Amino acid sequence: MRATFDPLARMARHTKWGAQMTAIRIVGLNGEPRDIPVAAVTALGDGLEGPLLYPDDEGFAEATRLWNGLIKKQPALIVSARTTRDVVRTVGFVRDNGLQLSIRGGGHNIAGLALCDGGVTLDMSKMKSIEVDLDARLARVAPGCILGDIDRATQVHGLATTLGFVSETGAAGLTLGGGFGYLSRRFGWTVDDLEEVEIVTADGAVLRASRSENEDLFWALRGGGGNFGVVTEFTYRLHEVGPQVTAGLIAWPAAEAGSVLDLYRTVTESAPRELTLALLMRNAPPAPWVPETAHGTPIIAMVVCHSGSLEQAEKDLASIRAHGEPVADIIQVKEYVAQQSMLDATQPNGMHYYWKSEFLPGLGGGVLDTYRAQFIGNESPANQIVLFHLAGAINDHAENDGAIGNREAAYACVISAMWPEGDPAGDEYRTWVRNAWGALKPYSTGGNYINFQTEDEDDRRTEESYRGNHSRLETVKAKYDPSNLFRVNRNIRPHD
Ligand SMILES: Cc1cc2nc3c(=O)[nH]c(=O)nc-3n(C[C@H](O)[C@H](O)[C@H](O)COP(=O)(O)OP(=O)(O)OC[C@H]3O[C@@H](n4cnc5c(N)ncnc54)[C@H](O)[C@@H]3O)c2cc1C
Repeated sequence: MRATFDPLARMARHTKWGAQMTAIRIVGLNGEPRDIPVAAVTALGDGLEGPLLYPDDEGFAEATRLWNGLIKKQPALIVSARTTRDVVRTVGFVRDNGLQLSIRGGGHNIAGLALCDGGVTLDMSKMKSIEVDLDARLARVAPGCILGDIDRATQVHGLATTLGFVSETGAAGLTLGGGFGYLSRRFGWTVDDLEEVEIVTADGAVLRASRSENEDLFWALRGGGGNFGVVTEFTYRLHEVGPQVTAGLIAWPAAEAGSVLDLYRTVTESAPRELTLALLMRNAPPAPWVPETAHGTPIIAMVVCHSGSLEQAEKDLASIRAHGEPVADIIQVKEYVAQQSMLDATQPNGMHYYWKSEFLPGLGGGVLDTYRAQFIGNESPANQIVLFHLAGAINDHAENDGAIGNREAAYACVISAMWPEGDPAGDEYRTWVRNAWGALKPYSTGGNYINFQTEDEDDRRTEESYRGNHSRLETVKAKYDPSNLFRVNRNIRPHD
């Protein structure tokens, strides 16, 4: 349904001048507010297939709600795009009027980069469609899809591509930052399976980019984030996976952390590519799979997904399942899509979150002792330190195969805090995250994952993230977005 758009009537509700207003204030590219004629806004709204939303319109509040409830931002306008044409019109409007633009996919970015205060937000979340091409083994995905949408559509055919650990995450932001999950050890970063994109660039052109067309742009899109335009379609290569996998979680009391960490190191160092293990320490949640007597007590757990044959999985997981005295073991043969959403409830929308992360080259040299020591004394019900095992297919590619780089990463370490709005312990938790990060940083490869950066990380961290690929990203940026229109992101500045 097409929205009727009457900016004067809406502004009468929003301003003390009401219908006499002839301009609307929107933050410009330089951060200063600009007065944009109402007629120009009207023309934008009239030409859209999706609605243009003002702050008290139905749907506006919903579109400003982020996964990280700590971040509150209020755009002046939200375009809820329905088509590539809506995107072209919106990009033209913000470019011609010199306005600040943010792009919203799934709204899961921890730094809240989906929104911009006082600017224009292009909300892509209603553009949802997936076409699975069984002959070519490809999925063409619209930019509003979340991970679960893609897995459900592809797993019907026993196919999948590498996506992340929480099914509600937006596919667009995850892919553009690189992407990893249960299948990255078999197939690489998500962008290693990216075959093609359709993108609207700053000049309003609708381009296709792939390994054989606009190759420089395609290279940059494989990890360079939302810096180069608005992606309106992603095409992923698919692989046979499941649909049944051996997966779940096993947890031990934290008192067994020493031996469990040693076991984790041993198993991951020789694990087949079909096996992905994430390890975490936290206080046990009051979940049905944890015995009541263990609720709130410190545990160490492994999240497990083996996508090989069921017989092989049983063998590969035997040493883990036989280890010590677990408080819970819910590893079982299950649907891959069920595993993909197993952790969703642990990351609810709207809580306050703060993370720090580093890539690690390995688990030697005292990193595991440091890991364990940092957890001791943590009393929060939800703070955790997680190690994700990577390596495998990620390491097969050259460092400059796509902008993501970080090909030597064997593990990603994420220290995370979560608390509800109003909890006075929030500041203390942030300090805990920062201290643990400080202790673990010396073990880093020197790289970090761009998609895990919080709002207080600066350009230096972005450079650290891309390292040797950063200057090439600046050159591609200069070609496709010389005025840095796309800057509400982990920004790459244009450089010739
Ligand atoms: C609970 C949770 C679990 C996660 N797990 C993983 C994981 O397992 N693996 C992993 O790799 N990452 C993971 N992430 C990180 C995730 O990849 C990022 O948060 C990512 O930004 C989410 O994408 P989104 O579309 O939801 O982002 P949004 O917040 O909507 O957007 C973030 C940025 O992406 C860009 N963007 C979005 N859509 C477009 C588009 N169509 N065109 C151009 N640019 C666009 C923009 O720059 C935007 O500012 C996780 C995040 C959360 C919150």
